[in-house]
Parts: sequence; C-alpha cells; structure tokens
Amino acid sequence: MARDAADPLAHLRARFRLPAGTVYLDGNSLGALPADAPARLADAVGKEWGEDLIRSWEGNGWRDAPARVAARIAPLIGAAADEVAVADSTSVNLFKLAVAACRMRPDRRVIVTEPGNFPTDLYLLRSVAELVGAELRLAPPEGLGAAVRDDVALLALTHVDYRSARRHDLAAVTTLAHDAGAVMLWDLSHSTGAIAVDVSGAGVDLAVGCGYKYLNGGPGAPAYAFVARRHHERLAQPLTGWFGHAEPFAFAPTYAPAPGAGQLRCGTPPVLSLLALECGVRTFDGVDLAAVERKGRELTGQFIQLVDGRLRGRGFEVATPRDPAARGSHVALVHPGAPRLMAALAERRVIGDLRPPSLLRFGFAPLYVRHVDVFDAVEALADVTAAPA
Ligand SMILES: *Cc1c(COP(=O)(O)O)cnc(C)c1O
Repeated sequence: MARDAADPLAHLRARFRLPAGTVYLDGNSLGALPADAPARLADAVGKEWGEDLIRSWEGNGWRDAPARVAARIAPLIGAAADEVAVADSTSVNLFKLAVAACRMRPDRRVIVTEPGNFPTDLYLLRSVAELVGAELRLAPPEGLGAAVRDDVALLALTHVDYRSARRHDLAAVTTLAHDAGAVMLWDLSHSTGAIAVDVSGAGVDLAVGCGYKYLNGGPGAPAYAFVARRHHERLAQPLTGWFGHAEPFAFAPTYAPAPGAGQLRCGTPPVLSLLALECGVRTFDGVDLAAVERKGRELTGQFIQLVDGRLRGRGFEVATPRDPAARGSHVALVHPGAPRLMAALAERRVIGDLRPPSLLRFGFAPLYVRHVDVFDAVEALADVTAAPA
C-alpha cells in the first residue's frame, strides 16, 4: 500500500514478533511481543537466575531495573527520570497516589471523578474516599467545571477513555483543578505510547499508567507512576514498603523515603516482568512521539472514513470523536450484533475486542499497525456484515 511505503515509522514493525496472517488491533489491551523479548527472558531465566542466582541483583542489574525502566518511560510522558517510578499495577499506584493527594489537602473532603471512568479507578477512588473520610463526587466531563469547587482535594480522571477514546485536554483540565486548589491525578493507561503526552507542560501533579498496553511490556507488566518534582518533599504515600526506602539494604527499623518518585516502590520488584517491560519500552528507542501521534491519527482517521463509506447502512455507529485532536489511538464502533461480529472477525484473524453489549473496539498501535491492516479489517467487517447471497 502506497501509504505504508510513505510511512516514516514503517521500519518499527520489525521490532515486534507478530503472528503471520493476523491483523492485530488490540495493542491497546495487550501490546505485541517485542522481537528481542524471548531471548532476553531466556537469558534472564537460564543464565541470570539459573547460574548467577542471588548475585544477579548486583551483577546483572536487577537492583537498578526499576529505575532504569522508569528513566525510559519518563520521556514518553514529558517527565524527568526522577519523577517516574515503575512498580506494582496501575490499580495499586492509583491507590497510593490518591491517598497521597488527599493527604496534600487535609482540609478538603471531596474526590471528583467521572461516572464513566475505568472501573478499577472508580472502585479504588471510592475505597480511598472511605479510607480518608471523603465524599466521592461523580461528574460527567461537561460537568467538571461545576463539580470542582473549593472543597475538592483531588480530581482524578483518565486521559483517554477506554471505550470511546475521547481525550481530555490535559492542560486545560489540570488548570481547572488547580484554579479550585485541587490536586490533579491522571490515568494515562490509554495514552502513553500512543499519543504525545506532556505532563510537565500541562502542570500535572500526579499520574499513573499501564505497562502492558501501548508500552508492550507483556501480560501483567509493572505499571508506572509520575510525581511532579515540586511534590517530592511532601509526598506521603501509604504503602511504605522497603523497596521505597532510601536504603533498603541498610535494614533500618524506621522508614525513610527514597528521593523522588522512587519512594513509590513498595516490595521486591517482579524482575522477569520488569525485564520484559524494558524490552517493550525500548521499542520506542529513538522514536518521535509527535510522529507516533500523527500516525495514530492517520490510522484512526482512515478507519473511520472506511467505516463511513464501505460499511454504510450496515448498522455501525462510530462512538469515537471524529476530531483527531479529541481522541486517542483506538476507535469504538457500536453495533447491535457486536458479540457475533467480533467472533466472526476472529475467524478471519482480525483481532479487536468486545465491550458488551454492543461495543467493538479496535486499537491502532502506531509502532506496528499498517495502513493495509486498517483496510483489511474494514474488508473483514464488510464481509461479516454482508447479506447472504
Ligand atoms: C488498563 C487500565 C488499567 C489497568 O489497571 P491494572 O491495575 O493494570 O489492571 C487501569 N486504568 C485504566 C484507565 C486502564 O485502561
């Protein structure tokens, strides 16, 4: 396809091992396998664990792995290395930072989020509210201005919606929180690695995000957390485990936080998963995020255009913003026969995912999805919705 021949990022697909004959449009749920990950993990298991054993913490760099991976994630979100920690899951990091945010505003007793936020975010924010004795106030995106008043300690939102791909204006909403005196916490799970994110430019206080989606870290990869440097001194996160201690191997009886975002580490890191995540994040080596976002806009735009044209009259409705600046890198279609269609697509080796009852979701990971994949996916959708001859 001419568009693929002209794609400045086309060479990045070789950094992945993708199954032949499959159109993989689910990198927003589980990123593809980095080509060098199998050998890296085989070495980590066979040689480092198998032969070097405990000496690997020093000799093979296991001890430094969390900070090393954090330093690679930082530029992908516009942060400095000491502002990012890699640890735990997104859910756990959200808990740590939401509690820390409430402790930064002890005189305020409200947490605001959207009723349509990702379920784990909703569950945990409610739990944090109970824990700190706060109210959880739910407001839809258009109601945030009215909901974020001078009683709000924390505004916690997901940047790119996991269903519709609707994208918040990171800087404008952060400013809205700050104007009310609230702390801003973003979940960047569907943003990082798909679009250009600049937490520093937007003045963001705190953020969390996922390692196994667009960062290609593998199933259950550790997550990351961002804390702006101006908050490092006062940050008081609740999970004060020994790996977040300034000197874990001094075995001191009292806790003293590590400098910077590193204090968000809790227990012993999952080294094998971290090494896989390192391979995943390295697929972004030398890659310009503005070019990544540009390609994502092209792929999602091409998909929407083909759905409008080729699938006209077949019961599809585009549930994603048509303004490329207002969306992330996936597209959601509503169709009453969604479960049946997704199964039929899978038979044709087109992999998207289903959000019951009627949402079909397709992720366009700019590092490895081609324009021809978009075309083939729409042809498959046309095929599975064609009237029987
Ligand atoms: C994927 C995702 C998560 C995942 O949380 P885990 O703790 O890693 O399971 C959290 N929030 C959002 C918005 C997500 O898209």
